[in-house]
Parts: sequence; structure tokens; C-alpha cells
Amino acid sequence: MHQPTIQSRPSIYYDYKVHQPWMPSKNPRHQRHSVVIVGSGPAGMVTALELARHGVPSVLLTSELQVSQGSRAIVFTRRSMEILQQVGVADRVTASGLPWLYGNSFYRGQRTFRMEAPHDEDDRYFPMINLQQQYLEEYLLDACLANHFIDFRWGNHVVRVEQNAEAARAEVDTPEGPYWIKCDWLVAADGGRSMIRSATNRQMEGTSYEGYFVIADIRVDLQLPTERLAYFDPEWNPGNTILMHREPHGIWRVDYQLPAGETPDEALQPDSLKRRIDAQLAMIDHAGVPWEMDWCSVYAARALTLPDYVFGRTIFTGDAAHLLPIFGVRGANTGFQDAQSLGWHLAFVVKGLAGLALLANYSAERVGAAREIIEESGKSTRFMTPPSRGFMLLRDAVLSLSLSQEFVRPLYHWRTSRAHHYTNSAINSMGDDNAMFKTGPAHGAPPQNVHLGDDDYLLDYLGGGFDLLYFTDKDEIPGAVQQVVTDARSLGVPLKVIAIGADRPVSGADRTLTDLRGRCRKRYGVLATDAAYLLRPDQHVCARWMTLDAHRLKSALNTALPK
Ligand SMILES: Cc1cc2nc3c(=O)[nH]c(=O)nc-3n(C[C@H](O)[C@H](O)[C@H](O)COP(=O)(O)OP(=O)(O)OC[C@H]3O[C@@H](n4cnc5c(N)ncnc54)[C@H](O)[C@@H]3O)c2cc1C
Repeated sequence: MHQPTIQSRPSIYYDYKVHQPWMPSKNPRHQRHSVVIVGSGPAGMVTALELARHGVPSVLLTSELQVSQGSRAIVFTRRSMEILQQVGVADRVTASGLPWLYGNSFYRGQRTFRMEAPHDEDDRYFPMINLQQQYLEEYLLDACLANHFIDFRWGNHVVRVEQNAEAARAEVDTPEGPYWIKCDWLVAADGGRSMIRSATNRQMEGTSYEGYFVIADIRVDLQLPTERLAYFDPEWNPGNTILMHREPHGIWRVDYQLPAGETPDEALQPDSLKRRIDAQLAMIDHAGVPWEMDWCSVYAARALTLPDYVFGRTIFTGDAAHLLPIFGVRGANTGFQDAQSLGWHLAFVVKGLAGLALLANYSAERVGAAREIIEESGKSTRFMTPPSRGFMLLRDAVLSLSLSQEFVRPLYHWRTSRAHHYTNSAINSMGDDNAMFKTGPAHGAPPQNVHLGDDDYLLDYLGGGFDLLYFTDKDEIPGAVQQVVTDARSLGVPLKVIAIGADRPVSGADRTLTDLRGRCRKRYGVLATDAAYLLRPDQHVCARWMTLDAHRLKSALNTALPK
């Protein structure tokens, strides 16, 4: 029998709540569910919330009775915030997180590079915001518990999975014994050590890097701004790298590389931790400042992905699908994008609005994203932890040259997690005017936000289905275009029409946004009236036209929803 711990996890700043396990004997049982999600990390919960937005119920099974141990992911990107806005928790993250813009790199005590992340008045969210993962999970959990489409089951540990062409089954162990659950689709969001990945014998491809990092969260009073700090080759840890981030609640993350040959057990000895953290504080002119340890762990950089995220009736997402180096804040930020993508792709298949080709598209797009990240983060990883003498020589040359040469400094550029562009997606429209636009988000790109005035932004109005952005200063959306929209809706396809540009409500549009300063037109590269963009439910562009007509819209919708 599965006995999850009922002791609150230790923390000096976060009060862990221990939830009641879901007991099979006390709850009605259903013969078969549409979707069962295994894992209540960021990926599992965002998948459940996204499915719920499309009216698809899910059962969410999770082994433990509490949110995750330790801060884990602490930096969330603007794109993650836009996704979290869609599932209703971004305001809570904004209220409690620490936003930031600048990153600093130091070499042997001298600052060699200061980078400002791009940010302008059209962005609702900062490029980065720091918040411990437990808080983020708590906010997602509250949203899940408030949602009647989500059947959240604490203390339900999946021990076995089976599937055939029609269904999947999971054996679930609970504090009062096991039961079986059957579903059309089983979502494996069970994290980096995914039991389901092992049970289905799925093999990952990629690279595991040598060398370990210690992550330590300490409470300490440092009078420093919220900025990323990276120290290369410091005196107390020669040849190695140290990262520091400020977290809310007076906590700092100190992340340092271990010398070759040192084991994780040795590194986590209290004496070793104290000596190194004291040395780091001394190096940043805070010698002797009192500090207290909250949580520490050791990790190695891995850059691995499954080659396919759909295996029969089982679909992988988040860390269960890939293991990415955390340099560049890849872990949870990539998981949000996976989950947002999976949510709508799966919902449309479940609702019969598209065929299995749409799930294959989820896999192709997100495997493509993981491979791109592996390529990019490999560069960062080789810079932070050079895997050979050759890489070490090159890295040291860049570092030492940067002390005197300005042109070398941008080579430090951090490659931070960003939204993948599905440029070659199978569901991008073939017959549109994508190639004719000079600017604006192209095929597969994420949307660009636009500040409309006061606390009002374009992305506030998007999502939950397809969005047709129709640029016009006329009184009405053309009748034939309206008819295509009506026909799509009558088949159950959620599709909103947002007219942009007119100064009075446009007939046939669900909403009209006046574009007084022309910001929308500029950001979307629109030169003439009757131009349009079709955005998918995850807000990525799948078609854009200089002039839209009904036939082209119909064709784009058919391509986006393959039968
Ligand atoms: C020690 C550590 C430090 C990290 N630091 C950073 C960082 O600094 N920056 C960063 O970006 N990322 C970091 N990460 C990575 C980040 O935490 C993950 O990328 C993120 O949590 C992935 O989300 P997920 O939902 O895919 O998986 P997870 O968050 O791992 O969630 C998996 C869920 O599945 C549940 N589960 C597992 N097995 C079963 C089962 N058999 N039955 C039922 N439930 C099951 C678990 O209890 C959990 O709820 C760190 C991870 C770790 C482990």
C-alpha cells in the first residue's frame, strides 16, 4: 500500500500544507475517463487547466500529499507568464514574485558583461520573474481545485500502465490499496524519473554532461538588486562557475559547480556547504553575514529528449518527455509550453474536431522545440562546464579577452528559455501571404503583445480557441468571412473574431479594439485594411493574410485541424 509522507516538508519560509489522500472507497468510480494525467508538477497541472478551458475533464493522479520539495525552478520567463495568464494564475505570480531585467557576468572579480533583457511598453510582463516553484505549484493547485473539470487525487501513485489500440489503463496504489483506472488518453507528466517512460520502454536521445552543481537556497540579508549574477573562475572555486539569484522571502539561490572528481555526497556535507557559501559571500563583500540553509541539492546537466511524445494512447509532457539543462531556466519554462500545446491539441482530438494527425503535430512541434533547446543549451553548458581541455581553453580565452576587449563580451550572452517558433509546422497554412509580410509574427511564431492603454493589452483578449485578428476600419466583417466563422462554430470549433482598428464596434466581430496609436498594425506588420492573422488556441500564428477572403480562411482552418 502506498503511504505518502504525512509530515510537512521542512522549510524556513514556506508552510507546506498536507492534503488528504483520495480514497477509492469514498468516491464513486467511473468505467472509463477521457483523460488521466499522472503528475501534479507544473506540466501536469497546466495540461489539466488547459484541457478544462476547452471543456475536457481530466483525472489528475499524484503520488504525494504536498507540493514539491525545495524551490527547484525559480525563474519564470515572460512567455511562461503569458501562459500562466491564460490559466488564471499570472496575477498571483506578479503579486509575489521579483521581476528583473539585468544579468551580470564576472571574471576573476571584474564585471565583464552586463546584459539587459529586451523589454518595452508593449509587454505586460517582465522578461523574468523569480518565485519559488512551491508557490507556483500552490497557485496552480488552487486553480485546479476550483475547476470542476479536474478530479484531483492526492496520494495516488501509479505503479503500472497498460495500453492497447483503444484505451490505456493504470494501476494506482493508494493508502487503502490499489485500484485500476481506464482512459482514452494517459498523459505522462510524472517528471524526470518518469515511471511511465521506463514502463513503456521509451528511450531518450541526447547528451549527459559530466560534472555536478550544488543548488543551495539560503536566507541571508544581501543589499543587492534582483539581477542575475554569474561568476566565472573565481578565486575560491578556480576553473568553475557560480550563479546567484535573489528569491522572494529573503532567500538567495547559490548555485556552484563542483571540482572534477567530487561526489554529490561529499558536496552536501554541512562543512563543505558552509565553507563554500562563506567563501562566496566573502567574495561579494558580505563576509561574515549570517545565513541559514533552507534546501540544497545536487544536479548534473542533461540534454535528453524522447524522439516522439505520443506512444499509442500515452502522451509525454514536461520532464517526463525531456531532461534539459537548467542553465537558461529551461526546466519548468519548457514544461509550460509543452502543457499549453498539449492542452489544446489533445482537447480538439478528444472533442472530435481533429484527427490523430493533430496529436502527431503536438509531438513533432514539441520534440522540435526540445531539440532546438538541446542544441542551444549545449552551447551554454559547454561554456559553464567545459567538457574537455579544448573547450576549457576556448572558454578561458573568451573570459580573459573580455577583460579588455569589448567585442568579446556579447559571447557571454545567456541563451535563455524562449518560445519556440513552429516555422515548419504541418498546420501552418500553405496558401496565405506569410512570405509577403516584412514584419510581424510569422508562421508558427508566438503572438506579440500590444499595450492598448492603461492596464489593457492585446493578449488579454486572446486564447481559449482560435482567434481571428481582422484589421479593418470598416463597419462590418465581410459577410462571406462571417459565414465561415459561423460554419466553424456550428461544428464546435471555438473561434473568436477580434476587429482591430475601427473606432466603433464592427458588426460580425466579437470585440473591436481601436488601435488609436497604430501599435497593433505596426507590431503585426499590417499595411492595409482587410489584413488578418489566424492564431491557434496556444496563440501561435498559423496563417496571415494581406487581404483575407472566406475561401482562404476556410482553407487555413482545415489545415489547422487535420481530420
Ligand atoms: C532538485 C531540482 C532543482 C531544479 N532546479 C531548477 C532550476 O533552478 N531552474 C529550472 O528551470 N528548473 C529546475 N528544476 C527543474 C524543474 O523543477 C522541472 O523542470 C519542473 O518541475 C518540471 O515539471 P514537470 O511537471 O514536468 O515535473 P515535476 O515537477 O517533476 O512533477 C512530476 C510530478 O509527478 C508526480 N509523480 C511522479 N511519479 C508518479 C507516479 N508514479 N504516480 C503519480 N504521480 C507521480 C510527482 O509527485 C510530481 O507531482 C529543478 C529540478 C530539480 C529536481
